[in-house]
Amino acid sequence: MVNEIQVKSILNKQKKRDDWFLCDYTLNPYSGCSFNCIYCYIRGSKYGENMAKGLSVKVNASELLEKQLSRRAKKEEYGIIALSSTTEPYMPIEEKLKLTRRLLETILKYKFPVEVATKSKLVLRDLDLLKAIDKNAILPDDLKPKLKHGTIISFSISTLDETLAKILEPGAPKPMERLETMKKCKEEGFFTGVCFIPVLPFLSDSEE
Ligand code: SF4
Repeated sequence: MVNEIQVKSILNKQKKRDDWFLCDYTLNPYSGCSFNCIYCYIRGSKYGENMAKGLSVKVNASELLEKQLSRRAKKEEYGIIALSSTTEPYMPIEEKLKLTRRLLETILKYKFPVEVATKSKLVLRDLDLLKAIDKNAILPDDLKPKLKHGTIISFSISTLDETLAKILEPGAPKPMERLETMKKCKEEGFFTGVCFIPVLPFLSDSEE
């Protein structure tokens, strides 16, 4: 049984746009992560060493996002929302709870662009919403000439070696499954690709 928590805020505005992911906002439907990657930067912080154990669902996330996004939309403060920065939006628990899906419905309603960062094929379930966001989202003025998409779907991969992946990412889907999911997203016309992070010295790098 997953823990349930109430939060005070769900949409976090970055002090400055992230240069790598182009996001102005971050949105985390869950706290902790059942994929439990040993390199995860949130390990050892408030989430503890085992992030699967402390996994919690933010039960008031939808209601809060509705309020926060409607305010931002009124002021036309459009910007890419990273879903997510400190958790995986498509963990197995999401299949039942459909919280990420509800958040995407709100993002679509207010026409915000989104950058989904995932390791899971469950993202395929929401391609209908992601397509509608891709078409209807309003990009910040400076990104309009450079980016023709309202949706970015990125797949994080640190190695294609399955034995190594089992050690590094014990709860995550296999890397090849992520590549197959990425291929399907590409075939559906999405702007998608691999985030090759982290690059691990002597494990997933090479001389080059
Ligand atoms: S999937 Fe992402 S958030 Fe989850 S443990 Fe791995 S790196 Fe951290």
